[in-house]
Amino acid sequence: ENYSKEELLQRVKELEVEFIHLQFTDIMGVMKNVSITSEQLSKALNNEIMFDGSSIDGFVRIEESDMYLRPDLSTFQVFPWSGEYKEARIICNIYNADGTPFEGCPRNTLKRIINEAKEMGYTMNVGPECEFFLFNTDEKGEPSLETHDNAGYFDLAPVDLGGNARKSMITVLKKMGFEIEASHHECAPGQHEIDFEYADALTTADNIMTFKMVVRIIAQRHGLHATFMPKPKDNIAGSGMHLNISLANLDGSNAFYDENDKIQLSKPAYHFLGGLVKHAKAFTAITNPTVNSYKRLVPGYEAPVMIAWAESNRSPLIRVPAKKGNSTRVELRSPDPSANPYLALATTLKAGIDGIKNEVEPKNKVSSNLYDMNEKELKDLGIDRLPTNLKEAIIEFSQDKTMKDALGDHLFERVINAALYEWNEYSKYISQWEIDRYLMKF
Ligand code: GLN
Ligand code: MG
Ligand code: MG
Ligand code: MG
Repeated sequence: ENYSKEELLQRVKELEVEFIHLQFTDIMGVMKNVSITSEQLSKALNNEIMFDGSSIDGFVRIEESDMYLRPDLSTFQVFPWSGEYKEARIICNIYNADGTPFEGCPRNTLKRIINEAKEMGYTMNVGPECEFFLFNTDEKGEPSLETHDNAGYFDLAPVDLGGNARKSMITVLKKMGFEIEASHHECAPGQHEIDFEYADALTTADNIMTFKMVVRIIAQRHGLHATFMPKPKDNIAGSGMHLNISLANLDGSNAFYDENDKIQLSKPAYHFLGGLVKHAKAFTAITNPTVNSYKRLVPGYEAPVMIAWAESNRSPLIRVPAKKGNSTRVELRSPDPSANPYLALATTLKAGIDGIKNEVEPKNKVSSNLYDMNEKELKDLGIDRLPTNLKEAIIEFSQDKTMKDALGDHLFERVINAALYEWNEYSKYISQWEIDRYLMKF
């Protein structure tokens, strides 16, 4: 809802809200918040809430640490689960002390790319499909990797023990304004998916952050631990976050639909696809930002490996679903829910609009199952693969000028440094797999 300052103050009073969480997202995609009492709200609404940016991962250098939170009033929501005290949140943009938008704020970055698209006459709409696992917790409340449930894809209760938790998550999300389109048990034991309605890119990025917060909190209330880690267990499917992307014209009509085309895609749709294919290796560093992300992108678990697109086949990176008309969209299947949603949408949108600006034809359309092809067949078709680890991905990313433009110098540099640091830490670690494999053998 679009509140004025006065209306919001009035609303907070009416609802008897006592605490307000001013939320923002750091570079790593982690939600942060500064809590204020509702008496402080008018100060916050005048953009006077300052925080020390140097204490947030990768935000600023110590010398320039004064940052301001500017609440986006339209994001005000009461937490429907709050107990003794009524609590609410407002999502904020981060500003410098001189009143300019802070370059390191992921939400500002997405807004900048959204405006770029708007100047071209487009609004990006995104519908995400977030998957996650529910694990049991032990007596101390620590998460385990165990689940009591042995259900599979679309299975029903009573095998689906997470079903109750899922229902309660959906109820809370609905109270917070979400329209839930579908929810089901995913293929792995303990794995779930809840799909909410598509919206413009900024709303969707905010929604993904809110969604992850709600899922975690409600799981905890059911004695479970919810994780959006991309691949918590080997030998079973990992969790993806498919992005169903389309562009709307300024009049609201679907810019990807053209009834006269063979598969009813418009020129801008083909070029957007072309941009996604062209920059796929590079934006993978953002859509799949953890070392663990790459354990999901392996054959055999419905996660993409090859850079190709298809109409209905589910093995490639991008699928163009059969439902057309106003539902025309492309489904990008590589992102996982550990991604910072603001940066994931900023980079994929930027890749797509680069495709449109440069009229990039989408190569690598395939019709057969890519998993069934051998190296030579793939090579003959000119089909390349996604990066196989974070290091490869970050190298691709660091060499892509369009990605640099997407994030701006500040974020670009920090994302690269953070990923390289992560990779170096990981490289020092000896895994159980290595012990099992080599300790006896050599
Ligand atoms: N879990 C699969 C992935 O990792 C997706 C499964 C599906 O939604 N069909 O992307
Ligand atoms: Mg789905
Ligand atoms: Mg799914
Ligand atoms: Mg899907």
